[in-house]
Amino acid sequence: MIQTYKRKPDIADHYHTILIGSGMGSLSAAAILSKEGHKVLVLERHYTAGGYTHVFKRKGFEWDVGIHYIGDMQRPKSAMKKLFDYVTDGELKWADMGEVYDRIIIGDKSYDLVKGLNNFKEKLISYFPEEREAIVKYIDLVFAANRTAGKFYINKALPKWLGGLSYNWMTKPFFKYSDKTTYEVISSLTQNEELIKVLTGQYGDYGLPPKESSFFMHTTVAKHYFGGGSFPIGGSSQIVKTIDPVIEKSGGTIVINAEVEEVHVVNNKACGVRMADGRIINSDHVISGAGLITTYEKLLSKDIVNKYRLRDQLNKVKPSAAHACLYIGLEGGPDELELPKTNLWIYPKDTDHDTSVKNYLEDIDAEFPVVYVSFPAAKDPDWPNRYPGKSTIDIITILPYDIFESWNGSKWMKRGESYEDLKEKISQRLLEKLYEQLPQVKGKIVHYELSSPLTTKHFMNYSKGEIYGLDHNPERFRQKFLVPRTPIKNFYLTGQDIVTAGVGGALFAGLLTSSALTGKNFMKKIVGS
Ligand SMILES: Cc1cc2nc3c(=O)[nH]c(=O)nc-3n(C[C@H](O)[C@H](O)[C@H](O)COP(=O)(O)OP(=O)(O)OC[C@H]3O[C@@H](n4cnc5c(N)ncnc54)[C@H](O)[C@@H]3O)c2cc1C
Repeated sequence: MIQTYKRKPDIADHYHTILIGSGMGSLSAAAILSKEGHKVLVLERHYTAGGYTHVFKRKGFEWDVGIHYIGDMQRPKSAMKKLFDYVTDGELKWADMGEVYDRIIIGDKSYDLVKGLNNFKEKLISYFPEEREAIVKYIDLVFAANRTAGKFYINKALPKWLGGLSYNWMTKPFFKYSDKTTYEVISSLTQNEELIKVLTGQYGDYGLPPKESSFFMHTTVAKHYFGGGSFPIGGSSQIVKTIDPVIEKSGGTIVINAEVEEVHVVNNKACGVRMADGRIINSDHVISGAGLITTYEKLLSKDIVNKYRLRDQLNKVKPSAAHACLYIGLEGGPDELELPKTNLWIYPKDTDHDTSVKNYLEDIDAEFPVVYVSFPAAKDPDWPNRYPGKSTIDIITILPYDIFESWNGSKWMKRGESYEDLKEKISQRLLEKLYEQLPQVKGKIVHYELSSPLTTKHFMNYSKGEIYGLDHNPERFRQKFLVPRTPIKNFYLTGQDIVTAGVGGALFAGLLTSSALTGKNFMKKIVGS
């Protein structure tokens, strides 16, 4: 049954643009196009809107799924802030996480990543005084890589003929950084493996350890947070709540419990969608924000996939890792429990990141390669108004999809005892990690539940429970098809796969897709560059 986001179903027969999925990319494109007068329809299969920015509520708690912190929001002139203000009409407010946004914990040592470029640099130098030169060079390279990104991304939105003509000069400087792995570049600056481990201590933000990830992806995340981290005031559900009125102003709407079965293509032209209940809704344009793999494997007919050899594209990219998240509810407010705003990244002491991942993928009883702990209740100044005397904590780690394959096809919440036993074992291991860092929360936990890769698959439609869409390896950035336009007329892609993972990446994907669809330069109009 189709339900509108807030009201009763009111679906027209025809829209300017239909967007599949209500993730950040779709919402951003929907808002930008609405401001151009488009009447848009956002169709979301989940029972709640927002894609990975959605929240869920249970047992009197609320948890944010795919937002723990966002960078670049405290600088009024940052492109990210300008774009967020544009799509939300300035209604979305952000809380500063304070001086220390990430803490990298390796054995009994801990390293703070602190807000402000100079502070960041000096703090690192205080930990590794003999590595001053390498640290300075590293920061220079982070900026140099990021400077090449603008042209690379803008090229994706140009008309095909122009994009093709200008491809080489717009992308060549970028490939100098994206073609190399993170480890290749950083190890050319320093041989200090502990420093490399610290500098790459946020690799969980893009899902690939240093020897596999593209150096460009690493620099995107590192630079993104140099100005500190921010959290949406009122929680991540505020994103969809503040974008919804912008869409409604032009007659558009967001609909939940609305699964698209197939993009309706006639004579190589997208002209609407067929819903899971068989209904056809017409539109001039269709945008899929459901992810490249989901879109090509599930939302296009076999004929179309064969005709345009879309399988060849899928063979050139890899799904990202899957994850588990332990969602914890506690009695006691964040102050009472002394919960920090700082995210904790906990790593094995004696192995480098790549080796830790390898050991764990061979045997999940090996030490977790990364344990990420986040304290949303402490980050959101509005939390105590909404949930007085309570707190939440999220703990995330990598969890391979394959281990859960045998339960594929079982029903959510009814997957059986052996599934629950495995989850319980993993939950206890994660709780142990938490108690090592915050012993004061022992005895305060009143609820916990672990999401598995099957949970992600169930709610987000990512076939292997991918956490970040496509892997961010060097090859990914070379793929010319990761652009808004598809071979099918009037059918576009948006979301993390055409830029990068992260709310910021998906937000900008929405801008690029809107530009490709309308031919307008929204980068200039909204961001001013
Ligand atoms: C655990 C976790 C933590 C994260 N933490 C952060 C963070 O702290 N900071 C940050 O910047 N980023 C973070 N991210 C990444 C960020 O959330 C994502 O990169 C981003 O939100 C992806 O947006 P998207 O537009 O690509 O769409 P998605 O959020 O992937 O949404 C796609 C939507 O399409 C819908 N869909 C699929 N198929 C259909 C269909 N047939 N019909 C209708 N709808 C369909 C899905 O249900 C889904 O809602 C995190 C992600 C995860 C998973």
